[in-house]
Amino acid sequence: MSLRDVLIAQITDQGPMRLDHYISTCLLHPAMGYYTSRQPFGARGDFVTAPEISQMFGELAGLALAQSWLDQGTPARFTLAELGPGRGTLMADILRAGAKVAGFVQAAQITLLEASPALRAVQAQTLAHHAPCWIDSVEDLPEQPTYLVANEFFDALPIRQFVRDGARWRERQVGVTGGALAFGLGPAQVQPAFAHRLEDTANGDLIEDCAAAAPILSTVAQRIATHGGAALVFDYGDWRSLGDTVQAVQNHQPMDPLEAPGQADLTAHVDFEALLAACTACTPSRITPQGVFLERLGITARAQALAAKLEGEALTAHIAAHRRLTHPQEMGNLFKTFAIVPKGAAMLPGLDI
Ligand code: SAH
Repeated sequence: MSLRDVLIAQITDQGPMRLDHYISTCLLHPAMGYYTSRQPFGARGDFVTAPEISQMFGELAGLALAQSWLDQGTPARFTLAELGPGRGTLMADILRAGAKVAGFVQAAQITLLEASPALRAVQAQTLAHHAPCWIDSVEDLPEQPTYLVANEFFDALPIRQFVRDGARWRERQVGVTGGALAFGLGPAQVQPAFAHRLEDTANGDLIEDCAAAAPILSTVAQRIATHGGAALVFDYGDWRSLGDTVQAVQNHQPMDPLEAPGQADLTAHVDFEALLAACTACTPSRITPQGVFLERLGITARAQALAAKLEGEALTAHIAAHRRLTHPQEMGNLFKTFAIVPKGAAMLPGLDI
C-alpha cells in the first residue's frame, strides 16, 4: 500500500483532511514519510541546501556564533543546538570553523532536534567525533547558555491555508474526488486569530498559518533570555504571508503537492513576521537577505582563499557555489537571516538590531 492509498482510505473514511495534517503525514509518516524513508539532500537527491552547496555557509555561521560566545564572556559550558540538521553538514562546518576560536568547541554540548530516525543515523556518522545528543522537543534543551542554528527547518513545518470569504475564512483541505486527492474548501468561519489580516487582504485572498513555529521559537527565546546565547535562523520567505506558497519538489523539479505523497519534499514559505512575534523575550535583528549577511561576514575573501587551492572543474563549481549562495537572483535574496540575542547583548556580526 502506498502513502497515497493510505491517505485516500483515511479521507474516504473520515472526511477532508487539514493541510497541516496532510503535510506532516507526507513528511514524517513513520514508514513512508519523505524525511523518514528517504535521503533527500544533495545533487542526486531532490534539493540542495546552502550547507550542501558550500562549506563557506557553515563556516561563516559558525564564526558568527563563536563571536557571540566571545561577546557574552565565553560561558564554560553551553548547548550548541541545531533544528533539523539534515545530513549534519552545517553542524560539521560550524565545528570545524569554530575550532579556530580557542575553547569554543570544548565548551559546546552538541544537541540536535531531528524527527527522522534515518537522518539521525546520518548525523551520528557525520558528527561521530563530537558526541551529539538528540532531543524530540525544544522543551528538552538544557537550562544553560544556548547557541542555536536552523537552516530550512521552519519551511518544513506543516501549515494551514485559509481563503477569505467576506469577514470569514474557509480552510483549504485535502479531499478525494473521483478516486484522486483534490483540494477543496471547508465552511466559512470566523477566525479571531486572523482579525488583523482583514486589514490587508481582499475577498478570495489566501493566507497561511504555521501554528507549530511560534511555540518552538518562544521556547528557544526563553532559554536564551534566561541563560544567554543566540539563535541564528535561515529560511526562505518574507514578511507576512500572502498567497499559496506550498511547493513540492522531486528530483529538483516542482510538482503538484498532491501528486506523490511521501515521495516529494513539501515546504512553504516562512512568515518572518510570525517568527519574530514569538521572540519577544529576546532582541531580534532585522530580517536580512542571506546574500547580504554572508557578504558582510567576508564570504568573498573566504571564497578567494579557497579558490587559490582549486583548479579546473572544482574551481568552476566553487565559483558557482559562491554565486548561488549570495547572488540576489539565486539564494541571496529569497533566503533571509535573522538572529536573536538576550536583551542588552551584542548582536551577531553581520546583522543589525
Ligand atoms: N538544515 C538541513 C536540512 C534541512 S531539511 C540543511 O540545511 O541541509 C529539514 C530538516 O528538518 C530535516 O532534517 C528534517 O528531517 C527535519 N525536520 C522536519 N520536520 C521536523 C520536525 N517537525 N521536527 C524535527 N525535525 C524536523
